[in-house]
Amino acid sequence: MLDFVKFLGTAGGRTVVFRQLRHSGGIWIRLNNINIMVDPGPGSLIRIYENNLEPKDIDIFVISHRHLDHVADINSVLEAATESTKNKKDLLIAPEDAIDGDDPVILKYLKKGIKKFVYTKENIEVDYKGVKVKSHIKHIHRGAEVYGLSFETENKKIVYVPCGKFYEKMLTGYPENADLMIINTTFVKPKPNVDHMSAEGVKQLLKALKPKKAVITHYSVDMLKANPKAVAKNIEEETGIPVIAAEDRMKIKI
Ligand SMILES: [Zn+2]
Ligand SMILES: [Zn+2]
Repeated sequence: MLDFVKFLGTAGGRTVVFRQLRHSGGIWIRLNNINIMVDPGPGSLIRIYENNLEPKDIDIFVISHRHLDHVADINSVLEAATESTKNKKDLLIAPEDAIDGDDPVILKYLKKGIKKFVYTKENIEVDYKGVKVKSHIKHIHRGAEVYGLSFETENKKIVYVPCGKFYEKMLTGYPENADLMIINTTFVKPKPNVDHMSAEGVKQLLKALKPKKAVITHYSVDMLKANPKAVAKNIEEETGIPVIAAEDRMKIKI
């Protein structure tokens, strides 16, 4: 089967997530026949079925960080994927504070459903049946440990820039020339007191890292009002790199 990225949700800002103005099911990546469930936020289990996917097919779980918009459904999806831990899954990758911190996000009995936990730090690499999951630069994002992520095979490279505000070191802290770069672009303009990326930061990232194609997602109300498609077009015009505004249920073949 072909490789793809499926957006089970495009919500990001608190109001957009918790009023469900957009779905918040995370991102399902299929690479080299390996299914990777990334950031199963509120409603993820429903969105998986709604998109004709099957939790039991998940091979790897990846959590970018512990905030609820990225993990609210991790327990439900784990229960479904492992059939109540009977069929254990090989791997879950997440920052340590999400799994072993003061307020862990996975229920104890469900942890038994995972054979191996790998904690993301800067420059960690895990090879799973030919798919390399790598973590990159540490993000600035209040209340949670967050690292950049990429998913790579011999000939494909998907980069995921999770939540966090733009800072200079990101320009060298991520792989260049990705086939697809997914960027959590919450705002149109930067907000100094909120640790989220804006379209202005995305422009700098794209100019420096030159992916073949980029996707913006994880929208706030402001972004929805500005129309993500118009924002994507503006970024594209300024950078010369094709930019897609993600929609709920959008599937991108890679
Ligand atoms: Zn967050
Ligand atoms: Zn978020």
